[in-house]
Amino acid sequence: MSRFWNPALAKLAPYVPGEQPRLSKLIKLNTNENPFGPSPHVVKALQAAANDSLRLYPDPHSHALAQAIGAYHGVDTSEVFIGNGSDEVLAHVFLGLLKHERPVLFPDITYSFYPVYCGLYDMAYHEVPVSAGMEIRVEDYAQPCGGIILPNPNAPTGIGLASAQIEALLVSQPDVVVVVDEAYVDFGGESVVPLVARYPNLLVVRTLSKSRSLAGLRVGYAIGHQDLIVGLERVKNCFNSYPIDRLAQAGALASFEDEAYFQHTRQEVMRLRAGLVASLEQRGFEVLPSQANFIFARHPRHDAAQLAARLRERSVIVRHFRHPRIDQFLRISVGKEEECAALVTALTDIVGPAGA
Ligand SMILES: *Cc1c(COP(=O)(O)O)cnc(C)c1O
Repeated sequence: MSRFWNPALAKLAPYVPGEQPRLSKLIKLNTNENPFGPSPHVVKALQAAANDSLRLYPDPHSHALAQAIGAYHGVDTSEVFIGNGSDEVLAHVFLGLLKHERPVLFPDITYSFYPVYCGLYDMAYHEVPVSAGMEIRVEDYAQPCGGIILPNPNAPTGIGLASAQIEALLVSQPDVVVVVDEAYVDFGGESVVPLVARYPNLLVVRTLSKSRSLAGLRVGYAIGHQDLIVGLERVKNCFNSYPIDRLAQAGALASFEDEAYFQHTRQEVMRLRAGLVASLEQRGFEVLPSQANFIFARHPRHDAAQLAARLRERSVIVRHFRHPRIDQFLRISVGKEEECAALVTALTDIVGPAGA
């Protein structure tokens, strides 16, 4: 606390992102980045955009990119909002669509940035417990509220909801915005984008960081009824008119032009995930059913914090959360074949071999 600060800063609890180690030898399975690089077509587009035009401001509406996203999802450009990473989209969503007199609802086990935005914007929120099996029960959200947000698949559990369950939620809560954060949906989940046409209270948030291997470019977007998008544009234009720089617009657009690469890499991640789940289960881990590019696992005889520390001694970093309900779990991002193998070798060293 400094006497120069806005006094409200002292009370905030900022989000703590997963470690980005400076040591490059570490096997990084802690922040759900894609193990594969972006499409070569994206890299070429970025190189081509690195020219004299950078002296000019970018298109404030990212029009070409919005058109590509609209075409990809079969929605109108007026139903697309683009932000500097989905974290920025979410920030505008909390302020512009979820801040009402009644509290916003989200699961108790979920993306830990949600309560941070509530703190920043001084919003009331209510955490709805997930079941003992870590599942979101949509019927628990049928209560008075100012809005609802949930990731699908959920993070950090990786468990997905069927689109019919989210539709039931939309029907039961027609008077508030329901935000579905689909950061991981491309790894086997069921998207609710097709429901946008029928539910004006549905907003779907997406990111290019995970399934399109572009965490470093910072592009995310939302799809929803025009009324919601116009609201988000109002917030954005009170904050930063040019959140998506020229390089990001060019690179993101190119990503949507290389469907084959996208399909191939996401299938590879799902294949590697299945192998990783089998290896961990053989070594006594309980692994929650994942539709994401990470798995959430615990071992009945090994403390998770200690496991994480011992993995780190073996140059593998995974994510451990100190939340009481999940402090015996590790969240492990799916890496390349050799990274998964190194993790399994390190775990074998610690917990013993398969079948032991
Ligand atoms: C990674 C993640 C985000 C943020 O993605 P960016 O687009 O990189 O800001 C949002 N929501 C969830 C659930 C995530 O896991």
